[in-house]
Amino acid sequence: MQQITVGGTTVPALGFGTSGMDTDDERYRAISAALDAGYRHIDTAQMYDSESAVGDAIRDADVDREEVFVTTKLLGENRAHDAVIESTRDSLDRLDTEYVDLLLIHSPDQEVTHEETLDAMNELVDEGAVENVGVSNFSVEETRAAIEHSDEPLLTNQVEYNVHERRDDLLSLCLDEDVMLTAYSPLGVGDCLDDETLVGIADDHDRTPAQVALRWLLQQPLVSPIPRSSNPEHVRANADVFDFELSADEMRDLFAVGGDLDDDLAAKLGV
Ligand code: NDP
Repeated sequence: MQQITVGGTTVPALGFGTSGMDTDDERYRAISAALDAGYRHIDTAQMYDSESAVGDAIRDADVDREEVFVTTKLLGENRAHDAVIESTRDSLDRLDTEYVDLLLIHSPDQEVTHEETLDAMNELVDEGAVENVGVSNFSVEETRAAIEHSDEPLLTNQVEYNVHERRDDLLSLCLDEDVMLTAYSPLGVGDCLDDETLVGIADDHDRTPAQVALRWLLQQPLVSPIPRSSNPEHVRANADVFDFELSADEMRDLFAVGGDLDDDLAAKLGV
């Protein structure tokens, strides 16, 4: 599995998303299928009701906890200092683990300052409950401020990023600052998959549009897509993306789906 190294941390580039599933049984089966298919990076959140299923699936799988990179995220109402500490301990209980690899602020639109939340997250790193800190849905300015404030390096900003929804300014900042960009909704919640450029390139490679959408993300430095699926065939196919490559022309054609790509970013991306 391809890896991304940011600072001193190595993260499996392809992750598995766990939001939007209705029952614990559906979540457990999907996460178990993902671990079985080789995913070693699982994305959960206090908001998704999936932390217990992640913990159960990892415990029951033929895989050591240390081999899996687990991310969780703080609910908006848990952003004040003491709530960060207590709710993360509750997350660890649900995840049945001593630590999470990554703790994120889920969303910036809250009353508590980012500084207060980040300070509490840094304390959790000091005590070993959290290995890395990051943010989600932060703007370029908010990301820059978080990078400057946090004692621990900011590992990622997790944002929506797919062929229809580009984040050029943010990606540029991430490349400059050595911050991963975790791409959520990498398939546009399924909406990207009938795009005719994607379908054409998929046909040329005898691949599915989902595989090409993920490959396009994986060929961008520091970008980590986290697709979600409850269908075991999709789970497996989405992980089967490491034995083909998109050409520079195909990469550019897929960028063009979302609008013009600025020359500076194109140079940083090598396309
Ligand atoms: P995705 O872009 O991953 O799309 C999921 C949808 O695509 C599902 O309906 C799934 O259906 C379908 N799908 C998956 N694979 C295939 C395939 N090979 N062929 C056809 N259809 C497919 O959307 P999400 O919004 O779920 O994003 C992924 C993850 O990102 C989330 O689960 C969550 O962990 C994270 N996220 C984070 C947010 C944040 O604010 N930080 C916000 C939103 C998401 P099926 O199950 O039938 O395969």
